[in-house]
Amino acid sequence: MDNLKQFSNEEIVKLIKENKISGADLTDSGICPTCFNNENDKILFGDDTDKTIYEDEKFKCILVGNPRAQGHAAIFTKKHFKDMFEIDDEICKEIFVLSKRIMKVIKEVYNAESVYLCTMCDGPMNHFHVQLIPRYSYEKRGSKNFVKPRMEYMEDKEKLETIKNMLK
Ligand SMILES: [Zn+2]
Repeated sequence: MDNLKQFSNEEIVKLIKENKISGADLTDSGICPTCFNNENDKILFGDDTDKTIYEDEKFKCILVGNPRAQGHAAIFTKKHFKDMFEIDDEICKEIFVLSKRIMKVIKEVYNAESVYLCTMCDGPMNHFHVQLIPRYSYEKRGSKNFVKPRMEYMEDKEKLETIKNMLK
């Protein structure tokens, strides 16, 4: 795939609609897939309103659409930062405090034994986010939990409402 920066916004949207390019291709071309998605009617990742468990003026937390475990969540900054190297100390503090709060709630609601945290935004362009991945009692401890196979997202309205209420 050529660098997508030579194409117009409309042309990129068309390529996405035709399934010719993915978010990774945008990343490779130096275009933030998250910002592109938000500015173009959720063209890449779809509407995440039903998966949103927390939102304030700076951050948004959603349940991941292709989770590595039930309860796998991701916290995004609303402002664009490429990766952790780019965020200021204030955002860094705030997102860690928020992560701790959401991890506690996910652990309790999903009855997980632990919740892992990672951030690995990489490539020419990305959008800073942290991932929270539950580890259940029947799963072995360790780094393999970061690469558990992705599964289909199954909506659990009751859990969603419970989480949202606990995070209010
Ligand atoms: Zn972005």
